[in-house]
Amino acid sequence: MIIVMRENATLQELSGVIRELEARGLRPRPSHGNSRTVVGVMEAGAAQLEGVASLPGVEQVSTMSTSFKMVSRDFRAEPTVINLGGAQVGGRNFVVMAGPCAVESTGQLLACARQVKACGGSALRGGAYKPRTSPYSFQGLGEEGLKILAAAREETGLPIVTEVVSPDAVPVVARYADVMQIGARNMQNYALLEAVGRERKPVLLKRGLMSTIEELLLAAEYLLSNGNHQVMLCERGIRTFERATRNTLDLSAVPVIKQLSHLPVIVDPSHGVGHSAYVESMCRAAAAAGADGIIVEMHPEPAKAVSDGQQSLDFGAFARMMDAVRPVAAAVGRPLPDADRPA
Ligand code: PEP
Ligand code: MN
Repeated sequence: MIIVMRENATLQELSGVIRELEARGLRPRPSHGNSRTVVGVMEAGAAQLEGVASLPGVEQVSTMSTSFKMVSRDFRAEPTVINLGGAQVGGRNFVVMAGPCAVESTGQLLACARQVKACGGSALRGGAYKPRTSPYSFQGLGEEGLKILAAAREETGLPIVTEVVSPDAVPVVARYADVMQIGARNMQNYALLEAVGRERKPVLLKRGLMSTIEELLLAAEYLLSNGNHQVMLCERGIRTFERATRNTLDLSAVPVIKQLSHLPVIVDPSHGVGHSAYVESMCRAAAAAGADGIIVEMHPEPAKAVSDGQQSLDFGAFARMMDAVRPVAAAVGRPLPDADRPA
């Protein structure tokens, strides 16, 4: 259930409602919009809210029709905007996050960071902890990789996006990262979602390989209900019968999620298609479909990459992709952040 406050409700009226709900043993969760505040009481039924509709400042008490609550548009009508080193994810701009699948060395990562910066990207990605399908594959440099990411941020000013694979690793990743990525394989790792939900740092939550949009939104609900509201949802392809691409990039998820939720949507064409040759088209398509940004894998020498080389753009292809995406993003009213800055 949600309690919708009147537009002109005072802070005292809001605290009065919250106190009343707490006195009834409920856990109120306020969300402050531009024009009004709504208070979610997810576990309550209509009977427990009897009389609440006539408390001072309350406009109405309504039921929520969706299984997800805090992530839904009913709970918050305005889009959530997340500040990423000055770029506003979910705001006016189309943001590009890019970098290697895995941090391999200082030289490799710094070269990528400089290229991302030079081409107008907004953030640097790179995995220090890698969830690999095979236990014998490279598992990432761990904290050493996080230190390399921090050094690249130091030099370029780019915020860093990096994956956290277990609840134990949350404190160390949170110390270094600007955005904590939860990978597709971990989308329904509820202990991890709760641990990341207790942090106050932006999260990139990737859709599971075999998860529905509703399951993705419910996974995000774990983050918001634990207090972390800075969540970006990421479409990265789902498994279908098609083998020509690594996954099937479900671009229709973009308008569906936009309708259902206020959270920003990022598309990952690299894992979506799995082949560098198809990445650029899907980057353009993501911008055209109304995504808030993309996250793209890039490597100085894709053939030598320790992971995901076949889908990584080399520096030339990355620069060409950026040139190709720019006009599409601008055409749908979402220019890249550097297009807004005076030359
Ligand atoms: C990654 O971003 O490198 C990654 C492992 O992605 P996903 O979790 O989508 O497979
Ligand atoms: Mn990868």
